Amino acid sequence: MFFCLLCHDRSPAHSDVCPACESDLPWLHHSCRTCAEPLADIRDSLCLRCQRDLPATDHCIAPFQYRFPLDQLILAMKQQPRPELLGCLSRWLSQHLAQQRHPLPDLLLPVPMHASRQIARGFNQAGILAHRLGRDLGIPVRQDLLLKRKATVEQKTLSREQRQRNLANAFKLERVTLLKMQPRPRHIALVDDVITTGTTTAQLATLLKKSGIARVDVWALAKTPLQAI
Ligand SMILES: [Zn+2]
Ligand SMILES: [Zn+2]
Repeated sequence: MFFCLLCHDRSPAHSDVCPACESDLPWLHHSCRTCAEPLADIRDSLCLRCQRDLPATDHCIAPFQYRFPLDQLILAMKQQPRPELLGCLSRWLSQHLAQQRHPLPDLLLPVPMHASRQIARGFNQAGILAHRLGRDLGIPVRQDLLLKRKATVEQKTLSREQRQRNLANAFKLERVTLLKMQPRPRHIALVDDVITTGTTTAQLATLLKKSGIARVDVWALAKTPLQAI
């Protein structure tokens, strides 16, 4: 017997969420190419913020808006913690990626977490997500190329300038290791659970592009709409 994770009603065999709850999820239908901000007008491809200041990320792909009830699943996964919930969450992202017509990257890099936070939680959800996607899509994953060297405060409460200052030098790219890779990756996707402001992934993309990576995409489960921050 299977029960829906959201309404707790009986669910068809081997599905985590019943079809009614799945169709009610906050699917993100049309969004900004570079930051996944939801867009109302189907003719727009960039949000106003990215039109003013284009981030170094080329494509940001997320199947969901970070809203109820999906946010409850993600919070339960991180806070209770219930890492097994990453099974259904990563399946939704894999299915969404399979529908896209974008070329697949050569390499997946999870957004790193500071060691102290990872020890406290016991796992890095971005790392687990990247490994599941890599296995489903046949793409290698490296967790040793990007490191977070200082624990930073939560980004969403800060202004844009404060966010950039908060993140300055927070990340380190193992450049020599990257440059020695054979074949040398040219197209990388950064993997994270939730994209909030996009400042972190934009900064990581800048670091990677300075080391000769031609294209950097972002794959995430969900995007927090900016008006909700
Ligand atoms: Zn349900
Ligand atoms: Zn944007």
